[in-house]
Amino acid sequence: MIGSRLGAAAAQEGLPVVDVPTDVRWDGVTAAVRTAVIAALAGRPRLRPGPELAARRRHENDVVHRQISAHEQQIGATLPPFPYACTCGRSGCADVDPATTADY
Ligand SMILES: [Zn+2]
Repeated sequence: MIGSRLGAAAAQEGLPVVDVPTDVRWDGVTAAVRTAVIAALAGRPRLRPGPELAARRRHENDVVHRQISAHEQQIGATLPPFPYACTCGRSGCADVDPATTADY
């Protein structure tokens, strides 16, 4: 019920929705989120490399970590390592640091 309400609210605002099933496959979720984010950011100003970009990556990693932790708590299991983004602040860096929620 909560998921359908969130989806309806997002649709009303014209925002994308990425459904994450309980038997999550991160490759599919990553691709869906990437597609939605690229579309949402098209034509918007980019973050400046350095501290501004690094801070944003840390924030994104923190958000993902919170979501994964909540999901693990809900299902009572530990998920495989997630590819957290590198926080070096270099523009175009695609490095990742796979970590479990405990290791993060
Ligand atoms: Zn990097």
